[in-house]
Amino acid sequence: MRSFILNENEMNELAKRQPTPFLVLSVDKVAENYAFLRKHLPRAGIYYAIKANPHPRALERLAALGSHFDVASAGEMEMLHAAGVDGSRMIYANPVHDGRGFAAASRFGVKRFTFGEESGIPKLAAAAPGADVLVRVQVHNSKALVDLNTKFGAPLGSALPLLRKAEQAGLHAKGICFHVGSQSLSTAAYEEALLLVHHLFLEAEASGMHLTDLDIGGGFPIPSAEGLHVDLAAMLEAINRQLERLFPQTAVWTEPGRFLCGTAMNLVTSIIGTKQRGAVPWYILDEGIYGVFSGILFDHWTYPLHCFGNGAKTPSVFAGPSCDGIDVLYRDFPAPKLPIGANVLVSDIGAYTTVSATRFNGFEPAAVLVWEDQADLVAKRRKLREADEASSASIAQMP
Ligand SMILES: *Cc1c(COP(=O)(O)O)cnc(C)c1O
Repeated sequence: MRSFILNENEMNELAKRQPTPFLVLSVDKVAENYAFLRKHLPRAGIYYAIKANPHPRALERLAALGSHFDVASAGEMEMLHAAGVDGSRMIYANPVHDGRGFAAASRFGVKRFTFGEESGIPKLAAAAPGADVLVRVQVHNSKALVDLNTKFGAPLGSALPLLRKAEQAGLHAKGICFHVGSQSLSTAAYEEALLLVHHLFLEAEASGMHLTDLDIGGGFPIPSAEGLHVDLAAMLEAINRQLERLFPQTAVWTEPGRFLCGTAMNLVTSIIGTKQRGAVPWYILDEGIYGVFSGILFDHWTYPLHCFGNGAKTPSVFAGPSCDGIDVLYRDFPAPKLPIGANVLVSDIGAYTTVSATRFNGFEPAAVLVWEDQADLVAKRRKLREADEASSASIAQMP
């Protein structure tokens, strides 16, 4: 599936309307990603993990499509409330809850929680008596970029005792959740986790506890600068088959974050300085590691960079505008010679980027434009695509 990527004309046209740096979010692309998951993983309902990108227009679009939402704090519940989403469509999926989070959950009517420790049970039972709970278990996956299982999850062996204790405390023990880690490139990680959790479901049933819900977390991957070397449709379909086989009667949920918004946003940033260090050209951009590129550090990520311009390509360095030596974004990037003022484009930068940007050195957060609001450019793109399709159709018809 293709990412949302502006072409050179669109980028430069937008840069006349909005000073750089700015982001361009395609809400249609978010909707397309949602439809892709529904199509290839139909057994699972969707809780969008909004920490990846809580832009109100993305939330509104997903809400209109019927999505549910994964939240981790009072602030995230408030964002959803502002987007018109009711608490009945949220799961408070941070296994550790704070007082403000409990208060917001009660205010907005959030009734589903996850937990991972015995010490969390009395807190939950006091703040949300009778709530539905899922226990988060640890699963292992060496093929995830971001490991979440060193910090989160109860050992598999303690899952059922924890659910029984939750029942005794007056909570409704509904089932089990896990997260194989973010940007998971392994279908086997899901399949193995499902097998292990299936055993727990059988064991629970044998002991008289009927579990009804399974939440398989997020982790679905998107392209980085190195591309994406898994067939995602095949991966989702394999998971779906395993769900049909092992959990035919269970309510299944997934919590995608990165997948829904990652490919739906572009950054336009421009060159504000250049220098030459030996044979290596350096370009200083007006956006850096303390801004939208913060995911390079926090999310261990490299975003696809698109430079426009002709001429020989030289391995170049791209750095951000802050007064810190750590603010270097790309090294050895083959780029044509670029003048001060040139715009460059970064794609697939919609997840875990704006959310961790800081105001270090006093730089303002990059503005976000919504692509679908740029009616003239959207219409132009549609015409180009139609012309393309017409010409490839006529080529196909040639004898
Ligand atoms: C972050 C998170 C997600 C989303 O993970 P992705 O890898 O972005 O899909 C889902 N569930 C929980 C509990 C999370 O913490």
